[in-house]
Amino acid sequence: MDFITKELETLRRQGLHREFKTLDGATDRLVMLYGTTFLCFSSNNYLGLANDPRLVAAAKDALDEYGVGAGASRLVSGNQRVHRDLEKRLAEFKGTEAAIVFPTGYMANVGTIAALVGEGDAVLVDRLDHASIVDGARLSKAKLLVYSHCDLGSLEQALAQARGYRRRLVVTDTVFSMDGDLAPLHEIALLAKRYDAMVMADDAHGTGVLGEHGRGALEHAGCEGEIEVVMGTLSKAIGCLGGFVVGERRLIDYLRNTARSFIYTTALAPAMCAAAIAALDLIEREPERRAALCENVAAFKAGLRAKGHETDHSPSPIVPIILGEPARAMEKSRELYANHIFVPAIRPPTVPKGTSRLRVSLMAAHTRDDIERLLLLL
Ligand code: PMP
Repeated sequence: MDFITKELETLRRQGLHREFKTLDGATDRLVMLYGTTFLCFSSNNYLGLANDPRLVAAAKDALDEYGVGAGASRLVSGNQRVHRDLEKRLAEFKGTEAAIVFPTGYMANVGTIAALVGEGDAVLVDRLDHASIVDGARLSKAKLLVYSHCDLGSLEQALAQARGYRRRLVVTDTVFSMDGDLAPLHEIALLAKRYDAMVMADDAHGTGVLGEHGRGALEHAGCEGEIEVVMGTLSKAIGCLGGFVVGERRLIDYLRNTARSFIYTTALAPAMCAAAIAALDLIEREPERRAALCENVAAFKAGLRAKGHETDHSPSPIVPIILGEPARAMEKSRELYANHIFVPAIRPPTVPKGTSRLRVSLMAAHTRDDIERLLLLL
């Protein structure tokens, strides 16, 4: 076990050792850390639903009706009515034939990719795709081809290289989780079609946030129906826990029968399913949350630009402040912490070397004063 001590020492020396801070209560615009209130700019709870009383009430009702744990995997005896209801609701929300729910988004990616491609196939991933996509691709044993970030020329080269393989699958984040930029989904779909490749889009950060109705990045890009496999998570704007895939009925039936991270794990806790259904209802009924988030994003990005910092014009709530070396990012994060603003530093291996950063994420509930306070300290 001595190698562990050595490895930990190395991580500390490189400024890459990670520790977490402990919140005393719920996650929201304000969080309590060690008895002090902090303004939180680092949560994926974009719409503030994670601590919404209506979600809490839905979860409590489900606890009374269904108990705490599902007791088995879905295909054995863990499939409760609320799982079916959530999948029906997700398909309706995303405008697809069917949906399948996994215990986490990570598991949705890993299980789906490994079910769609295997030995003799090729999987093409963007260099900045989420770790769960890369892990799914590796697990699948398909040939892994990495194309340059959002670069259609590089993707085309990879597609040409993948010609001789049995099946091809292109997988992309819709909103890149550490950079907040958007993939050119329509162009990727067109290109993939020309090379007879399937496309899978990870809409973890788009779902509930982007598009006129909050259906996600595909709605925003006007390319719903062009991408065969759409994955998402219940853990970000939806405020809960769990991952999902939506698409054609045959795709969902296939995943139920072949995705190992679906088959060989216990069903998602029923209270989570009920809370997620309540969240989808709120996302549809309260578009003002999305509008407030969008305004906050625009105000923050305009403030950054006024300070001479380059940033894109996308409506994505993830805004990176790239600082370079881990020590610089840590120092800036500590400075904000001293001023009661909570934005942990993001360092390798989560982001490429030399791009350690503060990953600011905005919420609908942030006020203009909150944003001004952050801008002043940056
Ligand atoms: N995909 C992306 C792009 C993500 O950012 C995340 C969450 N970090 C996931 C997948 C995994 O989702 P979950 O947290 O639900 O496991």
